[in-house]
Amino acid sequence: MKRRGRRSSDDPSLPVVSLVGRPNVGKSSLFNRLVGGQPALVEDEPGVTRDRRYAVCDWEGARFRLADTGGLDPSAGGILGAMRSQTLRAVEEAAVLILVLDVKEGITPVDEAVAQVLRRTGKPVLLAANKVDSATREPSMGEVFRLGFAQVFAVSATHGRGVGDLLDATVAALGGAATPAQPSEPGDQMDAEAEDEAGPISLAFVGKPNVGKSSLVNRLLGEERVLVHDQPGTTRDPIDTPFRWQGREFLLVDTAGLRRRRAIDTLTEAVSAKMARDQLARADVVALVIDAQNGATAEDAKLASFIEESGRAALMVINKSDLCRRAEIDQKVAAVREELGFMAWAPVVVTSAVTGRGAGEIPRVAAEVFEQWCRRVPTSELNKHFEEIVTRRPPPAGPGGRYVRLYYITQAQVRPPSFFVSTNYPAAVGFPYRRYLVNQLRDIYGFEGSPLRLVLRAHQGKKPGRKAG
Ligand code: GDP
Ligand code: GDP
Repeated sequence: MKRRGRRSSDDPSLPVVSLVGRPNVGKSSLFNRLVGGQPALVEDEPGVTRDRRYAVCDWEGARFRLADTGGLDPSAGGILGAMRSQTLRAVEEAAVLILVLDVKEGITPVDEAVAQVLRRTGKPVLLAANKVDSATREPSMGEVFRLGFAQVFAVSATHGRGVGDLLDATVAALGGAATPAQPSEPGDQMDAEAEDEAGPISLAFVGKPNVGKSSLVNRLLGEERVLVHDQPGTTRDPIDTPFRWQGREFLLVDTAGLRRRRAIDTLTEAVSAKMARDQLARADVVALVIDAQNGATAEDAKLASFIEESGRAALMVINKSDLCRRAEIDQKVAAVREELGFMAWAPVVVTSAVTGRGAGEIPRVAAEVFEQWCRRVPTSELNKHFEEIVTRRPPPAGPGGRYVRLYYITQAQVRPPSFFVSTNYPAAVGFPYRRYLVNQLRDIYGFEGSPLRLVLRAHQGKKPGRKAG
């Protein structure tokens, strides 16, 4: 079991993780278990029967504020209305949502309604199936999976079962939302997908020293078409620079750090890796800048693996093209593609910060990959293709010739697009077959510039319409 450190201070700048759920599922018990007796800051909210509580949670070095969404607003019109208003408030402030369910009582229509609201937000949602006090209760989890979320955790708030896994997943999900979301109108929140796409795109430039990151940034910020403005409230952080490109708002992540790092030329590999990771945590889209003359090196491969791991949308920028002969460029691009083959999903842009060639392609392509990263494919549409994909090439049999069945697929998350495939035998579906599924999804839907995640989940029963093997 990992150690958990705790901070007594409250810090409003930390991202918020909200516990959501109907009364009596065990939200407050889980809150107490997750924060481990840490004193909570209680906020009064008029018209609610219970106060909202916050406490800072530290897990494996990551910090966030856990919120117990508190009581229901009795004026909101029945339990469904009350749940909706409570959920809206939680969604509004949270970077990650934990939907708490009671497996003893089972899934109720109120749970389903709340799940649907959460699904539409585009924010990471983890399901905590509570009151799984012992393994004997795990079979009743089937119902929970049917809600269609990939991340399901069997927990017991009273016994502490599964709580470490839930915290690990929370921290992993925060990786994508470590920066608090931009404030926006509460009424817009239920349509978070559309809203996210309308907000600024956080763009980070990463790459080895001297590949031309600062020069490219300066060129982008210095172009006449680009408006640099430092309006209060438009920056998340003083070192991020907002800019507009052809009507699209961007936020250049850590522009100051880029300039600062230029001044320091002896960074240990560990320090620069940490810096890159911090930058990735705050970005939506990453531009990996590579020097055209030197091509991709082991260091670039390492950065590319951080990007893949972080789940960010990405493009590769091959800079200093002015130093190569025109005929050489295609070869250079092909060589980089070969070296960084595992990032084949990322489009390539060829630039020269000196002549300005291709620099404008960076924000254009960044906006495109961002869109793919936020894209959601409806379940019915996915399953229509899934049937064909599986029929064309069924999964290989498991050990002992056991049939492997894939029942259905749902897209559980966006940013990055994450798919949940239900099967009778997750362990038997090996890497080559998973890759086949991902490649097929890419063939059909593109998702260019976005990594894809695929999670296989055990499911006993059959789903209507899906038969394979
Ligand atoms: P909330 O209204 O969602 O905040 O729920 P509470 O935390 O107040 O818990 C409601 C009831 O469920 C209480 O009687 C708890 O003791 C009980 N409870 C909470 N978590 C668990 C659990 O993991 N296992 C069992 N068996 N009971 C639990
Ligand atoms: P950073 O460390 O990645 O931020 O790289 P810099 O932007 O500081 O650039 C390092 C050096 O490469 C500087 O001397 C730049 O003038 C030069 N440089 C950057 N981009 C280009 C380019 O496209 N073509 C050429 N010829 N030189 C470049």
